[in-house]
Amino acid sequence: MHPIHYPFGETTPADGQISAIRPDVLWLRMPLPFVLNHVNIWLLKDGDGWSCVDTGVTWDKSKAIWEKVLEDYPLSRQIVTHSHPDHVGLSGWLNAKTAAPLWMTQGEYLTALAHIHQIGNYSVDAMLALFKRHGLDEIRLDALKRRGNAMGVGCPILPKTYDTIREGCRFAIGTHEWEVIIGYGHAYEHASLYCADLGILISGDMLLPSISTNVPVSACYPNGNPLKDFLDSIRKFRHLPPDTLVLPSHGRPFIGIQQRVDFLEKHHQTRCDLVLSLCEQPQTACSIMTPLFNREINDAHQCQFAMGEAIAHLNYLEQQSLIAPFEKDSVCYFQRM
Ligand SMILES: [Zn+2]
Repeated sequence: MHPIHYPFGETTPADGQISAIRPDVLWLRMPLPFVLNHVNIWLLKDGDGWSCVDTGVTWDKSKAIWEKVLEDYPLSRQIVTHSHPDHVGLSGWLNAKTAAPLWMTQGEYLTALAHIHQIGNYSVDAMLALFKRHGLDEIRLDALKRRGNAMGVGCPILPKTYDTIREGCRFAIGTHEWEVIIGYGHAYEHASLYCADLGILISGDMLLPSISTNVPVSACYPNGNPLKDFLDSIRKFRHLPPDTLVLPSHGRPFIGIQQRVDFLEKHHQTRCDLVLSLCEQPQTACSIMTPLFNREINDAHQCQFAMGEAIAHLNYLEQQSLIAPFEKDSVCYFQRM
């Protein structure tokens, strides 16, 4: 199998630098204040101005970069792929500054709002209760509690109104038509954008070249099956032409959708096989976390992703009747059937 190909080479632009993918499609690399150290923002020529896809997280470095970018690239619209703070974080700030309207799916807008305002099981307390039930120790629970509402910090405000995008809708950005492809499993209603005449897929977090997309179970849908949802969703990209250029939210632009989907299917199958063998003995999501990720996870930010994804693998296997849950001392264990 051919590896995926990076047509823009090995180098990545510096933080805040703008590179041209096409004359009317630009790549802006935005720094992030956590382990995943950058997010890619795409600027698409849109009449006299530019539409951006995603915005970056709220912190001073990103605001300073945007201040400079906006001098040369007036913003006419913001399209946000999903509700995670590195994507939607600065949409409220940008809207107040430029009046550029926000385009987003309803599922993602409402999810962002629920996290910011800590509504129902979208709260940190509900996440802690879910992770405790899945065996997470007090030290790491405490670290997550001290970290608090990361969404509220990374995205303190949203524009009060938005325009809804949904599966299959098509709209013009400048002289090109783009189509929305909805994906599940990473976020509730993630929007990727495809332009046939440019041969470009803006994949957001649904297809990344070098890291495996996080597929978390959340406290608001504890019995969800995001791993199945994710695998079903990325298979939809297989019908796109093989020479499609993929613009991902993290990492470099690449060509090779088929190879990447093949790799991710195998990757998750290997992980499921591992979890299944571990479940010869009773396991919790916490006890499979280190073998699943091949390292000890202590950082609160990473722990949130890893616990959510460990539960996702257990739910995936349980829903195929390969393992069964049982409860002991208010903790959920799983064992091979
Ligand atoms: Zn994301």
